[in-house]
Amino acid sequence: MQTRLSSSLLETDWGKEADSILRTCVHCGFCTATCPTYQLTGDELDGPRGRIYLIKQALEETAVTAKTRKHLDRCLVCRSCETTCPSGVRYHNLLQIGKEVVDERVPRPLNERFMRWGMRTLLPYPARFAPLFRLGALFRPLMPAALKAKMPLLHEPGTRPSGKHVRKVILFEGCVQSVVATSINVATSRVLDRLGISCITANGEGCCGAVSNHTGDIPSGKEMARRNIDSWVPHLDAGAEAILTTASACGLEIREYPELLKNDPAYAGKAQRIAGAVMDISEFLSQSVDSSGLKLSEPLPQISFHAPCTLQHGLKQAGTVEGLLQKLGFSVRTAADPHLCCGSAGTYSILQPRMALQLRDDKLEKLDATGAEVIATANIGCMMHLQSGTGTEVRHWIEIIDSSLDKA
Ligand code: SF4
Ligand code: SF4
Repeated sequence: MQTRLSSSLLETDWGKEADSILRTCVHCGFCTATCPTYQLTGDELDGPRGRIYLIKQALEETAVTAKTRKHLDRCLVCRSCETTCPSGVRYHNLLQIGKEVVDERVPRPLNERFMRWGMRTLLPYPARFAPLFRLGALFRPLMPAALKAKMPLLHEPGTRPSGKHVRKVILFEGCVQSVVATSINVATSRVLDRLGISCITANGEGCCGAVSNHTGDIPSGKEMARRNIDSWVPHLDAGAEAILTTASACGLEIREYPELLKNDPAYAGKAQRIAGAVMDISEFLSQSVDSSGLKLSEPLPQISFHAPCTLQHGLKQAGTVEGLLQKLGFSVRTAADPHLCCGSAGTYSILQPRMALQLRDDKLEKLDATGAEVIATANIGCMMHLQSGTGTEVRHWIEIIDSSLDKA
């Protein structure tokens, strides 16, 4: 694609980066066919190619309006287009630049800014979010059905095994997940314990930074990344094998710390080290350990697996969880269109509820059509979003393995 960015823009790092990404796009439109939002609206501007044009126009100083922002905001950042693109266009990097430019030229209305501020002030901090969540859980029985559906059901986590093994990993606790689904990481520790590996929780770690970065507060996202790096490095130095994440969105965010901190001389190198050490639990179980040693009790449930976009398009782990579950003896049923987003997409389900619900219902129809007893996924956001629309149980796949462990 030919570009006409001003010379002053081309002198900046981000202007150069945007220009080089734009030039790799050959406008073939292959990406449009696999874009969930284009499939919903049929509007070219709600597909990747259209959004690339909008960003190009914004960078070439053509008029930018609230309509430009609307189409960029509707993007899920699911990266399905990146998986499809034959030219390797780094769409999400371009979108990030485009959103910042558009937000600067057309400031958001006060209510939108307040909503984003509220989310980044509350969600990344368990000490603030947990009391509100507990209050909500208390009043759950009195809530109207629509609101009740959004409140996740708490599962009894059980106990964590003691850290007795020589092999150790850092298990990232996260923010929202550590409040609404502690059972996921407790289940992970039990499965790893059976495989002779102990989990460490790093003091001082916190949110991965995704909520701040996705709601436009990049400086806070960077600060969170630095704090996490400082809390993990001593454990890696002491021999921890990896930093494991059980929410694929957090795993992707951490894997991209080098991009976030590339201009920070004190942290750029450390960020590279962290990105090399972070693994989704599915990557770890399939690459770094012989999980065939796990003894499970029959009968095993039939599973319909939804691969979060962060796992399949971001971390490029399409098929990893399914392969692992099958190797352990589970029957995994594949739903139609597995590449499409469920509509959760981080803060998207809160900020774009109409499209998020349409995508959720489409996804659930396909997952339920497999006739499996349980829906499994790999990210807390997808889990809560899907569970709000179905009576079928939705669990993290590691919890299903944990529940099936041979108790003897
Ligand atoms: S598939 Fe890639 S090269 Fe083709 S239009 Fe989409 S982003 Fe551009
Ligand atoms: S990231 Fe997802 S929603 Fe956004 S343009 Fe690409 S395919 Fe469409």
